[in-house]
Amino acid sequence: MPRLAVLGYPVGHSRSPAMHNAALAELGLGGEWSYEAIEVAPDAFEQRVRAMAGEGFAGANVTVPHKGAALALADELSETAREIGAANTLVFAGGEIRAENTDAEGFLRALPASPAGKRALVLGAGGAARAVVWVLLREGATVEIWNRTELRSQHLSEELGGETVERPEQPAYELIVNTTAVGLAGEDPFAELPLAADRFAPGQTVVDMVYGEEPSALLAAAGGEGATTVDGIEILVQQGALSLETWTQRPAPLDTMRAAARAA
Ligand code: NAP
Repeated sequence: MPRLAVLGYPVGHSRSPAMHNAALAELGLGGEWSYEAIEVAPDAFEQRVRAMAGEGFAGANVTVPHKGAALALADELSETAREIGAANTLVFAGGEIRAENTDAEGFLRALPASPAGKRALVLGAGGAARAVVWVLLREGATVEIWNRTELRSQHLSEELGGETVERPEQPAYELIVNTTAVGLAGEDPFAELPLAADRFAPGQTVVDMVYGEEPSALLAAAGGEGATTVDGIEILVQQGALSLETWTQRPAPLDTMRAAARAA
C-alpha cells in the first residue's frame, strides 16, 4: 500500500488530498495507494521526512514553508529543483530521497500559449515567483519582476535573471502573473499590487497563482476587460499531475483532478 502525502504548515486548506485521491481512484489504484495531508512544523520537517520511507510512503508533495528545506535534505536533486532553489515533490526510493520541482512545468502547462518572445510581468519574489521566473526565462520570455519589498526582487533577478521594475506599465505586458499571496485573505489586489482594474486588455494573459474565491478579484477584473485568465487551481492541477506521474509512472487523469480540485 504505497502512501503519498502533502507536507505543509498549515496544510488543512490543501486541495491536494481530494485531487490526488480522485486521480488514484480513476487510475484503479485507489485500493492500493492513498494520499493524505500531514501538518509538520519547520523544526520537525527533516525528521518527519526521513521517517516516511519506513512508514510506506513512496513520495510527497511539499508546500509552504518547506520547499527550501526539502531541497536541502534530499540525496539527489533534479536539475530544475536545483536551479530554482526549491522542491515541491519528493520521491522515496532505494533508501534515497529525490527532490524535484513540478511547479515550474505545471505553470507552463497551464498557460494557453507558449510565452516565448513575450513580455511578462511577474508580481512577487517568493518561492512561487522563483519557479515562474525561471521557466519563463527558459522559454524565452522577457521577464520584469515587481515585489513589495524591492530588495527581494533584486536578489531574485540577480540570481535567476530578469529585470526588476518599480512601476510596471500594465498595458504593455502580454503576460501578467500574480505570484504574491495577495487575495488569499481577501485583500484587494488593486490596493496591494501596481495594477489598475480597468487597464487590462484583450490579447493579454493574466494568471493568478492564488486560489480560493472563484474567480479571484484580479481575474474577474482582467476577464471583464477581455484578457485571457488562468487561475491557481489549474496550476495546482498541472503541477500535481506531474508529481503523480513521477510516483505512479501512469498518465494523470487531468479532468478528474480538475473536477476534484474545484469541488474541494
Ligand atoms: P512566499 O514565498 O511567502 O512569498 C509571498 C509573496 O507575496 C512575497 O513576494 C510577498 O512580498 C508577497 N506579498 C504578501 N503579502 C503581500 C501584500 N499584502 N502586498 C504585496 N505583496 C505581498 O509565498 P509563495 O510560496 O511564493 O506563494 C505565494 C502564493 O502563491 C500563495 O498564495 C500560494 O498559495 C500561491 N501558490 C499557488 C500555487 C498553485 O499551485 N496554484 C503554487 C505555489 C504557490 P514581500 O517579499 O514584500 O513580503
